[in-house]
Amino acid sequence: MPIYEYRCGDCQAVTAVLVPISRADDPCPCEACGSVRTHRIVSRPSVRLSNLSKLERLDPKYDRMVDRAMQNTRNADPDRLINRRGDISKGLPDKT
Ligand SMILES: [Zn+2]
Repeated sequence: MPIYEYRCGDCQAVTAVLVPISRADDPCPCEACGSVRTHRIVSRPSVRLSNLSKLERLDPKYDRMVDRAMQNTRNADPDRLINRRGDISKGLPDKT
């Protein structure tokens, strides 16, 4: 079912309603004033995006914000994983 928008002829408020296509031309009472002098208006189509598409559309400023937030944290150190492994010149620990 699509969401249709109706503009009130009395108060100009816009009411959005989920309506079956077969009832799209039925009058829809205004949510603001209750008037039934409403008419359907052309509204922006909506598109359902996958999560990947949403991520790809993010403004690059968010990448920079994350980079700035990360730069002084322990996770920003590229050697952190190597340091956690200890000194490999001493060989591997004995199996017990
Ligand atoms: Zn109204």
